[in-house]
Amino acid sequence: MPLLRSAFIALSKNRPLRRFSEHSSIGRKLSSRFVAGLTIEEALSAAAAVQKQGMFVTLDSLGESVTSEEEAQAAAAIYHQLLDAINQRNLKANISVKLSQMGIDLSHQLATHIVESLVDHARRTNNFVRIDMEGSDHTDITLKLVNNLHSRPEFAPHIGIVLQAYLHRTRNDAEQLVRDGIRIRLCKGAYKEPAEIAFPEKSEVDSSYVSLSKFLLSSGVYHGLATHDEKMVEAAKAYAKEKNIPPSSFEFQMLYGIRRDLQQQLVKEGYNVRVYIPFGNEWYPYFMRRLAERPANVIFLMKNFFRK
Ligand SMILES: Cc1cc2nc3c(=O)[nH]c(=O)nc-3n(C[C@H](O)[C@H](O)[C@H](O)COP(=O)(O)OP(=O)(O)OC[C@H]3O[C@@H](n4cnc5c(N)ncnc54)[C@H](O)[C@@H]3O)c2cc1C
Repeated sequence: MPLLRSAFIALSKNRPLRRFSEHSSIGRKLSSRFVAGLTIEEALSAAAAVQKQGMFVTLDSLGESVTSEEEAQAAAAIYHQLLDAINQRNLKANISVKLSQMGIDLSHQLATHIVESLVDHARRTNNFVRIDMEGSDHTDITLKLVNNLHSRPEFAPHIGIVLQAYLHRTRNDAEQLVRDGIRIRLCKGAYKEPAEIAFPEKSEVDSSYVSLSKFLLSSGVYHGLATHDEKMVEAAKAYAKEKNIPPSSFEFQMLYGIRRDLQQQLVKEGYNVRVYIPFGNEWYPYFMRRLAERPANVIFLMKNFFRK
């Protein structure tokens, strides 16, 4: 399995295959289980449908590693449209943003300026911007940018970050962020990282995840536990019950199209659940990372493909 995971992560960076897939109707049909559509309108109707099922939403306009300022500004413009549409339609949705899509690899100043304007828009519309976490070459700069914006009192309630349980450094980062009251989404981590900085074994990542979840649940800050792993979910539920931490003080988060049964079960049990809804033309790297997490998805998708 680790071999297949590495193969899919390598494929996620394959440009010719990406170009072919994103422009083919077969590719779009295959990806539709995990990607809500190509347009803002499709994403918003998926959000409304998810909300009808009693869940919150975070919207991700797919795209990463832009190569020009124009591309970064165009990506930001979509998020500004989303913030207005969420407000107008009274959706219980926020936005998830990748710094590499906002131009951080071109210029820190550019990305800071773009994100600042998104957070200000979120402040005006009483919303929230979650900065996704990318590969470890982006960890420090992501923490720095979020810390800087969060330190401005008018922005503090409107920006949060993601931490990855597979990194050795995460406990330390979590402690600092919690001290400042910054909202964290905890995930296991989706990128390929060297063993010097990340736990190579799933069992180690899992125990790091459980221990970090407990720390976050006890912190008094509203955090998100992002996982489809029932063991992680059960451990968090048990800990919260043991410590009398009310379900309203945290949320579970899952990806669109993944473990819909578990999403619904948690809603029935009275937990907050937020679904991460990705959309847009640039779905290929996101889609390949989902296959890397669970290569059996290839068989699952093929079966559904021929069934339709
Ligand atoms: C809301 C959300 C936001 C995220 N944001 C980020 C981010 O900013 N940065 C980042 O690095 N990563 C992010 N991730 C991805 C995350 O790091 C993991 O790669 C991903 O969630 C898989 O880990 P897992 O906790 O579900 O557990 P795993 O140990 O990977 O899986 C446990 C079980 O969950 C189910 N499952 C997991 N993945 C799939 C799948 N693709 N298809 C079907 N079933 C599956 C299977 O039953 C599997 O046995 C995010 C995940 C979520 C849910």
